[in-house]
Amino acid sequence: MNVKVENVVKTYGKSIAIKDVSLDIRAGELLALLGPSGSGKTTLLRILAGLDQPTYGRVTFDGENALGLPVQKRNVGLVFQNYALFRHMTVLGNVAFGLKVRPREQRPSEKEIRKRALDLIELVQLGGLENRYPAQLSGGQRQRVAFARALAIEPRLLLLDEPFGALDAQVRKELRRWLVEIHRETGHTTVFVTHDQEEALELADRIVVMRDGRIEQVGTPDEIYDEPNSPFMFSFIGESSALPVRVDQGKLWLDQHPLDLAPGDVPNGPARLFLRPHDVELVNDTRGAIPGVVSFLRRQGGSRRLDLEINGHGDRIEIEVPANFSHLSGEVAIRPHRFRVYPAAA
Ligand code: ADP
Ligand code: MG
Repeated sequence: MNVKVENVVKTYGKSIAIKDVSLDIRAGELLALLGPSGSGKTTLLRILAGLDQPTYGRVTFDGENALGLPVQKRNVGLVFQNYALFRHMTVLGNVAFGLKVRPREQRPSEKEIRKRALDLIELVQLGGLENRYPAQLSGGQRQRVAFARALAIEPRLLLLDEPFGALDAQVRKELRRWLVEIHRETGHTTVFVTHDQEEALELADRIVVMRDGRIEQVGTPDEIYDEPNSPFMFSFIGESSALPVRVDQGKLWLDQHPLDLAPGDVPNGPARLFLRPHDVELVNDTRGAIPGVVSFLRRQGGSRRLDLEINGHGDRIEIEVPANFSHLSGEVAIRPHRFRVYPAAA
């Protein structure tokens, strides 16, 4: 199902949780809402679910106004971080619940409900545990029951709010893989909230980065990682260094040293050069390149990390170099092959 969010605003008294958000969610995609705590992710998800109404704006499901529809009629599947299962019901009872409470004319037969629930329990790899109670399951297993329960109603939209948040790192990793597989098999349009960039980069078809109630950037994981569109994005996703520079007459300067790097359309004045550790290469000639002094070298996985002191003002950048790099001191020069320049005030 296609979901269209248009100019949605949500206020709570004087505070604004969502500030004019517009977003197209494509049928069948796995979309991550990523952002720091308090950026409005849960609020947006609750509006999609029908648990909250926006103060302004429109939400349509396949072109149809969704805001008039109560939660029950929206046919969305919900999984929250600590979405409590019914403690007095078995796994089977929990998964079957959403179908059992349907109005008679839409309710499948007892036999059909049982079959569908058992198939889903199999799908989430809990076959054989259908008669257990939630207290007899691990955290990861409970979360998988919550998934199966959300899937049982054949939702038009699946909404997950930090579904792995409460689980330990190992279980989280397993469930991530598993979520992608389930999504591939079932093809539900899925929106999934996380504050964990790794999780978003690994799982999502597209990522919506939220900041302070607004959308900062939308893109595929590659676009988000390789083409961050703001200083915030550089610092929020992955690793980066920022170097104070100056734009003068269309050229970039590091103090008195001209850099052979195009400043783009940044106006004259103080600016910042952003780069990622692996987007640079060492060069022999300092002309047009960024000269630096090695201040710290350390092994990191298959390569090495180097802290470079730049221009003697205490500015430092971190870069990745091959493992066989062994200058423990002295001067080097680097040339970024991917970078962005922003006005200093941005
Ligand atoms: P996130 O899920 O990204 O951490 P939320 O959507 O929960 O962020 O919150 C966004 C902002 O809205 C926060 O500043 C939060 O304090 C505020 N907020 C959320 N729900 C309410 C509420 N029911 N009443 C008042 N303020 C709220
Ligand atoms: Mg939240």
